[in-house]
Amino acid sequence: MKELFAQVAIERVPDRLFTYAVRDGLEVRVGQRVVVPWRQVLRQGYVVGLTDTCPALPGREARGAAAGEDLFGGAPAPRIKAIAEVADPAPYFSEGTLRLLRWLAGYYDVGLTLALRCALPAPVRAGGGKARELFVVVPVVPQPPHAPPLSKRQKTLYEEVVRVDGGRLAPLCKELATTPATLRRLAALGYVKVERREAPRNPLAGRRLLPTKPLPLTPGQAAALRTILAERRPTLLFGVTGSGKTEVYMQAIAQTLAEGRGAIVLVPEISLTPQTVNRFAARFGGAVAVLHSALGDGERHDEWHRIRRGEARVVVGPRSAVFAPVAPLGLIIVDEEHDPGYKQDESPRYFARDVAVMRASIEGARCVLGSATPSLESWRNATELGKYALARLPERVGGAMLPDVAVIDLREAARPGQGLPIFAEPLIDALKACLARGEQAILFLNRRGYATTYQCGACGEPIVCAHCSAKLTYHAKDDTLRCHLCGAWQRPPAACPHCHAPLFKPLGIGTQRVEAALHAILPAARVIRMDADSTARRHSHDELLAAFRAKEADILLGTQMIAKGLDFPNVTLVGILAADRSLNIPYDFRAPERTFQLIAQVSGRAGRGTLPGRVIVQTLQPDHPAIRAACACAYERFAADELAERRAAGLPPYAKLACVTFTGADPEATRRAAEAAARRLAACRGIEALPAMPAPLERKEDRWRWQLILKAPSSRAIVAACDHALPRDTRLSPDLRVLVDIDALFLA
Ligand code: ADP
Ligand code: ZN
Repeated sequence: MKELFAQVAIERVPDRLFTYAVRDGLEVRVGQRVVVPWRQVLRQGYVVGLTDTCPALPGREARGAAAGEDLFGGAPAPRIKAIAEVADPAPYFSEGTLRLLRWLAGYYDVGLTLALRCALPAPVRAGGGKARELFVVVPVVPQPPHAPPLSKRQKTLYEEVVRVDGGRLAPLCKELATTPATLRRLAALGYVKVERREAPRNPLAGRRLLPTKPLPLTPGQAAALRTILAERRPTLLFGVTGSGKTEVYMQAIAQTLAEGRGAIVLVPEISLTPQTVNRFAARFGGAVAVLHSALGDGERHDEWHRIRRGEARVVVGPRSAVFAPVAPLGLIIVDEEHDPGYKQDESPRYFARDVAVMRASIEGARCVLGSATPSLESWRNATELGKYALARLPERVGGAMLPDVAVIDLREAARPGQGLPIFAEPLIDALKACLARGEQAILFLNRRGYATTYQCGACGEPIVCAHCSAKLTYHAKDDTLRCHLCGAWQRPPAACPHCHAPLFKPLGIGTQRVEAALHAILPAARVIRMDADSTARRHSHDELLAAFRAKEADILLGTQMIAKGLDFPNVTLVGILAADRSLNIPYDFRAPERTFQLIAQVSGRAGRGTLPGRVIVQTLQPDHPAIRAACACAYERFAADELAERRAAGLPPYAKLACVTFTGADPEATRRAAEAAARRLAACRGIEALPAMPAPLERKEDRWRWQLILKAPSSRAIVAACDHALPRDTRLSPDLRVLVDIDALFLA
């Protein structure tokens, strides 16, 4: 009889794989969750490989592969421990997903265990969470024969309960304007039953959605759908906002379902796109599962298992949904494929769009990347390189016009001695006219709080965070100074810490200050402010957006969270208060691309219905190419110019770029470590290592930060150099940390 050995990735033991024997009679399959003895305890793990030869010598499976003793389940004796039990016979990972995760581990330079970990929602790893209970009221019909008589009011209530046929306790109380205690008295008298049920933990439960049918496609949409269905390559669906991309996605999904396969739809930030989620749910009903980190643990656990069992065939979710256990997978859609929200901000720092393309290729699924402003990476893949097919939707459905965009030079609007205004005159006039017509407006400013700096009126020094190299933002509402990096806050000091003058000036503009200014200029206007401060509560996004949709407000004022996926037919005016804010980041070569995307996305919110839309863009740099191109809706021209510059400068997408960040509590030790690593990396062949420098954000949360940039033709060359030259396992000083960010998006 042949012996069998399993390679196991153990929870919370990163970077290493372990080998265990499989006892006779135990059926073990790749992808299963198992329980193994590890050191003195039992741990959960996942089987990532099976072999019938005893791995006598430690192989280099994951980076930093097992040392001899760890290879044998932590036992020093050369006897291989056995798997204790199989926790769940149904695998958690398919062979395809494992291939994907091996690729991910190699590309982003992490151990396979960490890659596995990011593919499973935390509540699934933890095994579930408690079921939520709820109470249901059921009327006893006909009226119980020997029950004690009811008072007049009780009798009326009983009849009402019968009429509506009972229901969940809490909503029923609301509906019948009564209390749980009153209903429970009816129950004690035998007229109703109050039953305890396990709540269906479905995030879409309770939403009332009218089912929708596929719309007859426009010729452009039909051509795009044909391309998607026919192509083996991923399709870049380049369509302006309102061009009907979502309808194309839904019909591609319908076709996929008809073929007996499932689909995944990625959206950048799900709490910001409730309307998009609702549209899929309305079309595909109970086949839709939503994966979403803001859901309760129980809901996430249940949704994931519903997908794994094949009950939910269409998954809508943020970046982590790219790993959803849909099998067989027929289609992955990445909506707003350019969005930086697809980048994971902790290790492994994957970009979900790229993972989606890889997963589709491994599993033979179709892949659609949709955007009105594609990333330059994807645009080049679809044009210069032909790696992607390209489908265009240049017009809005139903002939709605793209909005008319006007640029206002804020420098000209400045009044002597008063600095820059928050609103230039033409924007104020347009707001007044818009509200007078009974229409709605959206105002966009990418900065929350009241004032961006709080500076001494005498010496001009700003108040900075005690833990970060960041200026504090003044919040007028609760009279605090807050750090937007670490969350620390303090009361404004009575006197300047530098010169002791007792005078302060709040400078710069945040959303709270705009809100105050709006009330002064348009006292009758009803304003909803939407930013991280006003939406801290769960579901508050949905509530604010619903209120705006129901026309309970005239103006929606917000940060970038209002730039995405919103469709309000009554909005005819969009104002961008400071379009160049994201341009002035000198070290960020993607700043023009981002500025273009932002202006295009925000202006896409105007004139979505039958009413014509208008956009007013306030800026200090009206002649900047990104701003001019965005205002002219000239994406292709912008992309061509910007790609030419990137090519000349040897920047992505013409090179792979990684950012290595050293952080430590001691500034000198951090600098020395970064400089030493930079010297070793500079000696590596096949990559270019720029000198170590203080990070643009020099200090964050009490840690000093040094950075160096690596450039190479491929990720593989960067990973090889880092493995060779970085002191990752042998730390230089106990608190020093090194982070490698492959395809870094922000160098901060
Ligand atoms: P996008 O996703 O490109 O921003 P949407 O899919 O939201 O565009 O479409 C914009 C509007 O046009 C939506 O209200 C949608 O219902 C409508 N629409 C899309 N396709 C069609 C069609 N073929 N016929 C009629 N209306 C359509
Ligand atoms: Zn701070």
